[in-house]
Amino acid sequence: MIKRKHKGMPKKNVLVIGGGVAGLAAALELAEQEIGVDLIEKSEFLGGHAARFSCKASGECVKCGACIVVEKLKKSFLNPNIRIHTGCKIKKFENNGIIKTRVDKESSEISFESDAAIIASGFKPFNPVNKPFGYKRFNNVITNIDLEEMLKLEDDVVRPSDKRFPKSIAFIQCVGSRDESLNHLWCSHVCCGSALRVAKKIKSIKPETEITFFYIDVQTFGKDFQEFYDSMKQEIRMVRSIPGDILISDNDCPQITFFDSEKNCSIDEIFEMVVLSIGLTPGEDNKNLSELMDIKLDDSGFFKSGENSSTGIFTAGTSRGPMSIEDAILDGGRAALEAIKYIDRKDL
Ligand SMILES: Cc1cc2nc3c(=O)[nH]c(=O)nc-3n(C[C@H](O)[C@H](O)[C@H](O)COP(=O)(O)OP(=O)(O)OC[C@H]3O[C@@H](n4cnc5c(N)ncnc54)[C@H](O)[C@@H]3O)c2cc1C
Ligand code: SF4
Ligand code: SF4
Repeated sequence: MIKRKHKGMPKKNVLVIGGGVAGLAAALELAEQEIGVDLIEKSEFLGGHAARFSCKASGECVKCGACIVVEKLKKSFLNPNIRIHTGCKIKKFENNGIIKTRVDKESSEISFESDAAIIASGFKPFNPVNKPFGYKRFNNVITNIDLEEMLKLEDDVVRPSDKRFPKSIAFIQCVGSRDESLNHLWCSHVCCGSALRVAKKIKSIKPETEITFFYIDVQTFGKDFQEFYDSMKQEIRMVRSIPGDILISDNDCPQITFFDSEKNCSIDEIFEMVVLSIGLTPGEDNKNLSELMDIKLDDSGFFKSGENSSTGIFTAGTSRGPMSIEDAILDGGRAALEAIKYIDRKDL
């Protein structure tokens, strides 16, 4: 690791755009190397999407990564080299060796000068309203993000229609990912693991809950995940099929139609609640930021990586494509080290 020598007031500054885990990790790495950071976040809160996730431990930790966010937040607030600006929108960006940025904050305007910049503006969760699953039309069809929020706020799982625990739950995987009709050809990497961890949590709250998992194939990323997946297969029913559509049946119960390849026929089955495992799509500001900062996007709409190092602008985390919390943190650290190398090269 590069260790810079001077202490005291930082002599160099980096702009970090986005206060999710990737931006926080980048800011902390820079600050620990005595570089001043202006961290700008458009919302009023830091932590990004991961700050909305619940702890899925049920007796033992299932390594979801959600608690790392709290630790990164605490460290960022305490580090005097990090200046945090929430509720900010970038208005102007100029890069002539020194980066000059102007942002709007409420009714005032703030300006920064920086030696490099890191874009860590994250992702947008897929919005499934136009898929034939009845999201926002049927009360008991929710997304994995809705379920995460329910677990975080209420530490319980209830049907939105009548606030009682569902006896049967279907998870539908790959909603908005690996979908040729949308030209979303990427795997979102995190939603299989996330759904299985939530399923385990639900089983720990009410073991008699019947859980069915509709999937294409299961992405087993990360250390120890295969072992976890093998144990979950004993507890839930796995159906290798993605349902065509959902209708509503009695008592607000969603009815799923799917093709059963073993029986070679189409089946209608009723569940008390359905969870759509929506994936990660390019951040909603990607196009705007790419034009403002003259940075290219790839064909999917995520930021291209490694193309802008000569201009002092670096990209990190899910702004570059789907990745887990742990990987977004590592990636934020990597972008910070690249920015430091760039600054040091300029000084030679
Ligand atoms: C349903 C679901 C479940 C998941 N479950 C898990 C899990 O169990 N484990 C796991 O490891 N990962 C999980 N993930 C992935 C996890 O959410 C990401 O890895 C993580 O949030 C990535 O952090 P990030 O900083 O790259 O982006 P984000 O969390 O999106 O943060 C980006 C930040 O940038 C800000 N921003 C955006 N545009 C601008 C702008 N123009 N100016 C200033 N600020 C801006 C945003 O407001 C946000 O605060 C899950 C994702 C989903 C969708
Ligand atoms: S990693 Fe996840 S499951 Fe483990 S303690 Fe942290 S929040 Fe809980
Ligand atoms: S992680 Fe799983 S659910 Fe998510 S897109 Fe990949 S295969 Fe589909």
